[in-house]
Amino acid sequence: MHELRHNLGQFHEQSRPDRDQYVDVHWDEIEADKRHNFYKTYATGADPIPSNCNTVCSETVYTAEDCDACARSEATTFDLAYDPFSVMHYGRTFFAKAGGTGITLTLKTDAEQPLGGNFQTELDIQKLNAAYSCPAQTCGGLSMEMKGTIVVDADEMTLNCQWIITAPPGYLIVMEFNSFSVRYEKANSVYMSFVLM
Ligand SMILES: [Zn+2]
Repeated sequence: MHELRHNLGQFHEQSRPDRDQYVDVHWDEIEADKRHNFYKTYATGADPIPSNCNTVCSETVYTAEDCDACARSEATTFDLAYDPFSVMHYGRTFFAKAGGTGITLTLKTDAEQPLGGNFQTELDIQKLNAAYSCPAQTCGGLSMEMKGTIVVDADEMTLNCQWIITAPPGYLIVMEFNSFSVRYEKANSVYMSFVLM
């Protein structure tokens, strides 16, 4: 899903133009020729990457300030929140140099907090919906809890609610219906109402 979202136009979450408010990049801990992976993007209308960026930030002698200033590619946040758990966020140890602390990226509010994830978050889904002008999802979603309840309100009954339910390898997904009410409506001469699993 991470690579697929790149194909759909999304950059890494920690390269957002506003990322310095949320994470610290530990430039000294990154392999010199890999520092470019931590450049930011610049907000629409802002100044692009300094032309000397790859020179000043990829050399043995460099300053963190030079690297912090490096931004490539224009991007927007759609005014949606920074998401440290995005499937598009680097982990804390990505591109760590040998012999260092092994930590290249930390959350400002909690440096020990693991970053990134293997599954799309609610915010990931909202961002893609915004990028492609898809209507906001008002029902359905992603469930990764060991146990959970799906409730569809009466006013959502006419919507196409899609739920993605995942389980680790070796686990069964068990669905138990406590109450079940499907509206039977005529639309374009076709009676539609069903649950598909
Ligand atoms: Zn990536």
